Amino acid sequence: MDDSETFVSYHKALMELSHDSGFIRQQRHQKLSALASLCGRLLGVERVSVWFFHPGRDRITCECLYDIHEEPGARQQNVSSTNKDLSPVNLYRSDHPNYFQAISEERILAVNDARNDPRTSSFKSNYLPSVGIHSMLDAPVFDGSRLSGVVCLEACHPRNWTLPELSFAISIADTISLVNIYEAWMSSQKALDFISRFDTLTGLPNIDSLKERVVHLAKKVLKRQKGSLALIWIDVDRLKAINDGLGPQAGDSVIAELGQRLKTLRLEGKDMLARIGGDEFAMLIRHQTHAEALNHAADQILRSIEQPIRVSGQSLGISASLGICLLPKDCVEPQELLRGAEAAMYHAKNLGRAQATVFDSAIRITAQSRFALERELRSTISNNALDVFYQPIVDQAGKNLVCMEALVRWNHPLRGWLSPIEFLDIARGSGLMYALGECVLQRVCEDWSEASSSGIQLPTISVNLSAEQVLTVDLPDRIEEICAKQKMPVSALQFEVTEDSIQGDSGIIEKVLERLVKAGAELAIDDFGTGYSSLSRLKSLPFSRIKIDRSFIKDLPNDENDCAITLSIIGLARGLGLSVVAEGVENESHEAWLLERGCDYLQGYRYSKPLPFTQIIDRYYSG
Ligand code: C2E
Ligand code: MG
Ligand code: MG
Repeated sequence: MDDSETFVSYHKALMELSHDSGFIRQQRHQKLSALASLCGRLLGVERVSVWFFHPGRDRITCECLYDIHEEPGARQQNVSSTNKDLSPVNLYRSDHPNYFQAISEERILAVNDARNDPRTSSFKSNYLPSVGIHSMLDAPVFDGSRLSGVVCLEACHPRNWTLPELSFAISIADTISLVNIYEAWMSSQKALDFISRFDTLTGLPNIDSLKERVVHLAKKVLKRQKGSLALIWIDVDRLKAINDGLGPQAGDSVIAELGQRLKTLRLEGKDMLARIGGDEFAMLIRHQTHAEALNHAADQILRSIEQPIRVSGQSLGISASLGICLLPKDCVEPQELLRGAEAAMYHAKNLGRAQATVFDSAIRITAQSRFALERELRSTISNNALDVFYQPIVDQAGKNLVCMEALVRWNHPLRGWLSPIEFLDIARGSGLMYALGECVLQRVCEDWSEASSSGIQLPTISVNLSAEQVLTVDLPDRIEEICAKQKMPVSALQFEVTEDSIQGDSGIIEKVLERLVKAGAELAIDDFGTGYSSLSRLKSLPFSRIKIDRSFIKDLPNDENDCAITLSIIGLARGLGLSVVAEGVENESHEAWLLERGCDYLQGYRYSKPLPFTQIIDRYYSG
């Protein structure tokens, strides 16, 4: 054969190997062995090895060796399997500086007389004679544009390497480069696949994996008309308060710990545990779905969650609300199994949290109407069609209107007037609170402007702000913009925030509240006494008024505790230089007790229920 025929025959053999489906399916080390072996056999060299640089580039490590002298059947092996002590074979730059210099130049290294060539003579003393090597040929392996290793051919007889041999060695090295690139791509695919199917914080499957599993198992159950599935939806109660109060890392630690506890919980029929949301897990149970088994499972889950967790030096008591739905008993669609369990969980929350509820027909109706209500609320807000009622706040004389609180109402086409308790939770759950707040403020400004153009000067209007609003840096700008549209000064407004809604990022909240005060608005802390605000937090924010929650007023003057609490809130307000409003003043004895203790302002049914704008005008400004 002349050179060109040899060249073609070598390359044909390589193409056949590298395009063979068996080769393509092999593991990386098997591919390296097959390539080394092909090279050794075709070129008739005694040893072919594949070496890769260590990350520090101070050494190269042999990953694969073909040796013609190895016994048949064990000729092509991974180095670690031929190496009896299983330690990797390394060559160090410090021992072979010339050799490293030569291969680092990233060119082919063809050495006919290895023992006398300066580039390889460092191997003379203890390697070349003992193995009987005369000639060496090294071809570079690349990782993209960077040299990552070499393929090294060693012959036991002096050889003048020919052009087809050089070209073939380069092709083998290039094929190894491609194998490496393919492997790297595959492992990044695997990593991507992991990220898209698992939750990185807990290592648990995510909601997509859960849905896939539910679809698969539901199909089986329905096809065989045998077996059952139960989905337990687990929602950690008040995780938001932990995130807000102790920081998101504390919240993450809680979730990671709970994930670990639920993972190790042994329950009959437990099929999959997934983390399906920020504070939500789901457990899928197969077959063991009779009431007794599920009660036991729910009990175990609640108990394991309720063990105190130590986070940021504090021992936290955590609870969760559980919802359980069954297939095929409650539903046949996999999607409905999830929705049903979620709806049952909401029911458990409404019953006071820290308990489990099993899906039933009443929950089905509630869930359906909840979804419908959410859709309708979204469109009502986007059409700016929510209403506002106003409730007077009066002074100590009990007659003068000093302020009125704007309270959102929804005039639903079928259900009639809905009060906040009937839709604020839905707004919160579907991220509508910020938009709802803007809608209310616009309505307030329009009403103010209407009164003003009829020559009526309304008292300060107090508007409730949600946590979502006080955590939005642009809130003061938006408020100024909305007011300016109706030529209403911001100073005609007071804003109420509850203790819970100021638990978030204190930097943002302080900035937002301070800017509102700078713009001329007053700030009141709402429902005081029911939340967790610390005294120092109260002092650091620019409040001028405290509103005592009506739950403390309700049983005055008979309930001693409520009397003591109310008195101490009044004292606290005095100490901080703030004025006090009592909410929920319903009768004369409430009023008398409060006035005697120096409460500045009063709000409640004794004076007026919240009224539509026109009725407020009629009542206070006509005639
Ligand atoms: P809130 O801000 O504490 O408002 C006072 C609530 O107490 C009002 O309930 C009012 O109707 C009720 N109330 C007033 N006086 C009496 C009384 O003498 N006896 C009794 N039993 N209740 C009385 P409403 O209008 O149902 O509002 C409930 C809560 O919804 C409000 O509590 C407030 O936290 C929230 N809310 C209302 N409107 C808005 C709004 O526009 N934005 C935001 N973020 N929250 C709002
Ligand atoms: Mg309020
Ligand atoms: Mg209140």
